[in-house]
Amino acid sequence: MRQVVMHAPGDVRVEDREDPRIIEPTDAIIRLSATCICGSDLWPYRGAEPVDHQVMGHEYVGVVEEIGSDVRTVKVGDFVVGSFWASDNTCEICRAGYQAYCTHRVLMGTLGTQSELARIPLADGTLVATPGMPEPDLIPSLMAASDVLGTGWFAAVAAQAGPGKTVAVVGDGAVGLLGILAAQQLGAERIIAFSRHADRQALAREFGATDIVEERGDAGVARVKELTDGLGAHSVIEAVGTQEAMMQAIHSARPGGHVGFVGVSHDVAIPGDELFMAGVHLHGGPAPVRQYLPELIQLIWDRKIEPGKVFDLTLPLERAAEGYRAMDERTATKVLLTL
Ligand SMILES: [Zn+2]
Repeated sequence: MRQVVMHAPGDVRVEDREDPRIIEPTDAIIRLSATCICGSDLWPYRGAEPVDHQVMGHEYVGVVEEIGSDVRTVKVGDFVVGSFWASDNTCEICRAGYQAYCTHRVLMGTLGTQSELARIPLADGTLVATPGMPEPDLIPSLMAASDVLGTGWFAAVAAQAGPGKTVAVVGDGAVGLLGILAAQQLGAERIIAFSRHADRQALAREFGATDIVEERGDAGVARVKELTDGLGAHSVIEAVGTQEAMMQAIHSARPGGHVGFVGVSHDVAIPGDELFMAGVHLHGGPAPVRQYLPELIQLIWDRKIEPGKVFDLTLPLERAAEGYRAMDERTATKVLLTL
């Protein structure tokens, strides 16, 4: 099969690799219909994380091609969506809704899904089948559910977005934009998007943003305060992972407010005194996307949401290197790779 391998920072290649095989009786093999490049794939690409001949990708949708002898709930021929942590969905942590911390979890990025085929561990727990074979135009949205939509959704839930709430969203990448969509679906009254890119502002508004703030840092916080009678937002989504973004999120929340943080943290250090004085709730981390998949798949299937709009560049898998370059140079927000 063909698979993306990052040899070193900036060096992405598509190579012939051995087809994956069933190893555990709980495994399934899927043939991918699409995959994509994640913002987090840019950290090793830019040399901010070590990388040496690493298979890439952790987002996937496709058709089940083979199942292990213990797989019960998915069958050959099913169209399935899974998330970046394989999880059994039966342990105590999974049953509480925190499948990203499953006691048997397997990180899909270590197996790689920017490939023609992928081995999915714990298939019964990990994979959710769609009601039937999707129309081709639904595939980008189902693909988004695999990570960026599920992550944005968790951020909105963690921030307690809902009716009567003002939600501020730090980060206008795919996760931030879909955090806006999630907040809107959860019934938020007002959604303030931080963005300085015209195209992303337009998509933010389409997804439900009511206000756009172009300022960042302290100036951005001041604008949110102006828009909320000096109080700050009830709910804040942090979808970047930098020090500036995290502090902007904490300071944009009102006392007693909630911050849902899902930007993969890079050298973020929250000063204790600022945290103490802020009086906000913080909840975040790797999103338990699996918890939301059945609901998100249904919303997409019923064409009530179209999260696939975050993909602004589509390339065949063979041209993955171009996709990485486009995301690195910010000429694309999110790249869909087709097979
Ligand atoms: Zn579990």
